[in-house]
Amino acid sequence: MSARMVIDLGRILADIDVLRERIAPADYMLVVKNDAYGHGVDRVVAAAAAHGVRWFGAFDVPMGVRARAAAGPEARVFSWVTITPPEIAVALDAAIELGVGDASYLEDIAAVSAGRATPVHIKIDTGLHRNGVRPEDWPAFVARAAELEASGDIRVVGIWSHIAETSDEDDDRSRAAFIDAIRIAEDAGLRPEVRHLAASAAAFARPEFRFDLVRFGAFSYGIRSTGGPELDGIAPAASLIATVTSIGPSAVEVDYGYLDGLPSTLAGRMSVGTPAGSRLVREIGPASMLIDTWPGAAIGDEVYLFGPGTRGESSVTTLAEAIGTVGEEIIVRVSPLVPRIYL
Ligand SMILES: *Cc1c(COP(=O)(O)O)cnc(C)c1O
Repeated sequence: MSARMVIDLGRILADIDVLRERIAPADYMLVVKNDAYGHGVDRVVAAAAAHGVRWFGAFDVPMGVRARAAAGPEARVFSWVTITPPEIAVALDAAIELGVGDASYLEDIAAVSAGRATPVHIKIDTGLHRNGVRPEDWPAFVARAAELEASGDIRVVGIWSHIAETSDEDDDRSRAAFIDAIRIAEDAGLRPEVRHLAASAAAFARPEFRFDLVRFGAFSYGIRSTGGPELDGIAPAASLIATVTSIGPSAVEVDYGYLDGLPSTLAGRMSVGTPAGSRLVREIGPASMLIDTWPGAAIGDEVYLFGPGTRGESSVTTLAEAIGTVGEEIIVRVSPLVPRIYL
């Protein structure tokens, strides 16, 4: 396979700097689910931790364990998928702070913790209905959390939720529900260190969504929102590069060999970056594509399939927009077998 994904770690750190400055005094969390959005969790977390990032967010425990190993013992690692007691034990050994969105899961954590004052972040459902304690169940839930805190099994260090970021009105309603939930938790005697609600888009645009901490995924890697504006000072960190393997009279073939490939529906609607600038992609197969040729095209020439745009290629978000999805979907499809090269 000829393709490789080049990751500019300095670019990620520069993107992070823009985000941190923008949301200060709120704190910044680097979300690293899906192997750091395909960029490689180990290298990304190590670089970010050395750059002073304190909070890391992993969807599941295996990714959280890797983030802990790369970030070192001082970092805060948050993981929010609901897991079983054996996995809870693994998470506690790695000092991972668990997000808790239902009452029986809270009991499981308290039982595994058994007096260790395990830090948890309790989650209110503010309208997404994915996971989270429903508002009608919240008063009893926080009362029980306060009891478990008093008995030394848990420590409520955070209150959080997740919002849709699809309309300002829905987000405003979620924010109001979140503020209610914080008040109810405080009335029950809980004193969390951090309240966190928003991910990239809402927190970037709307200061009142930042609270104490923002969970930034996509924007940290320079992936803007579908349909959203370009972001000042932020650019994509990953470039997927393949090489020309054969040359025909009007088209060249590029072998990229990444399993699953680019969605074939992008054919005719996607441009790539060549040594002569932007060229249209005519056909996309499982492991190779045909693109319009250019004068002097040669076998071995590099073609940028996506990246920051310096050679005429599109960003993953621009590709995603052509087929009605989000940029993350394009980049996480790149097979782990495609080597990552770090700058
Ligand atoms: C994915 C995710 C994020 C990060 O979202 P972005 O839009 O990529 O910034 C934050 N919080 C939760 C719970 C998530 O699942």
